[in-house]
Amino acid sequence: MKNYRAELTGVFGDPVDDNPTGVVEEAAFAAKNLNYRYLTIKVLPEDLGKAMDSVKIFGMKGINLTMPHKIKVLPYLDELSPAAEIIGAVNTVIQKEGKLFGENTDGKGFVTALKNSGETLDKKNVTILGAGGAARAIAVECALNGAAHINIINRSIEKGEELASLIQMKTDSSAKYLNWKNNMAIPSDTDILINATSIGFSPNVTDKPDIDYTTITPEMCVCDVIFNPAETIFLKSAAENGAKTITGLGMLVQQAALNFTLWTGVEAPVDVMEDALKKEFE
Ligand code: NDP
Repeated sequence: MKNYRAELTGVFGDPVDDNPTGVVEEAAFAAKNLNYRYLTIKVLPEDLGKAMDSVKIFGMKGINLTMPHKIKVLPYLDELSPAAEIIGAVNTVIQKEGKLFGENTDGKGFVTALKNSGETLDKKNVTILGAGGAARAIAVECALNGAAHINIINRSIEKGEELASLIQMKTDSSAKYLNWKNNMAIPSDTDILINATSIGFSPNVTDKPDIDYTTITPEMCVCDVIFNPAETIFLKSAAENGAKTITGLGMLVQQAALNFTLWTGVEAPVDVMEDALKKEFE
């Protein structure tokens, strides 16, 4: 008998119209000949509970959560991964045997992209600009992957201090909050520097974090979470000082690849996914 029923995945968010993940996942489903769909669905904050019920009613394989649902979704889940538990936010839900399992693949995607470029986190000193959702996921995964110390530099003191104390209390890494001063110097013992703020995201492509770029050295690996544009002014300035740089595209592709495998059980066609994303931003 022919099966006309597709397996469903997707994303709930508000706003969500400009989320490019569907293009990447649909390209991967097609490449692997899977009858899966990725639906980009606007869900208002007050409707999240009903939307999560629909994941069960429609027998969806899973769902991504984006703004403003990543934290609010927690009460609707049956189980959390250790990382999602520490981060306190979920961007990917997997449905198995009627149970909803929450994972956070943002930080895992970052770590995979970093490792694929030949870097290791083992005993490294990491400095993160930002303390929002992306910074939180990245900081926790860096700690869980062996970083010795994590500096958090953030504009709002409360959020920065909260993230540093979360790492300090819940992981084996030490962590410290540093107040973001004008022309902020990057600690000289930094091995990996990450921009995890939203500064530089299209259309504000000429913006860059207010740091002293002369304190970036060739020994540092400098990464950005911004993926549009991929080559940010932040990364260009770091490269001018001799640092190795890694764009935010790798993180985006790798987390989409992790989600693909979590939902389908099939190895992700990472090259296809990367090409689809690059075409989208041409
Ligand atoms: P949040 O809103 O949770 O956090 C934003 C962070 O940026 C906060 O730390 C905020 O500081 C800081 N910030 C914003 N503007 C400024 C400024 N002018 N000066 C100093 N700090 C500033 O956003 P997310 O963490 O969810 O996302 C951050 C970026 O990461 C987004 O651009 C998003 O697109 C990107 N992203 C990329 C992913 C990828 O796969 N490559 C995955 C997820 C996100 P404060 O606390 O002081 O407000």
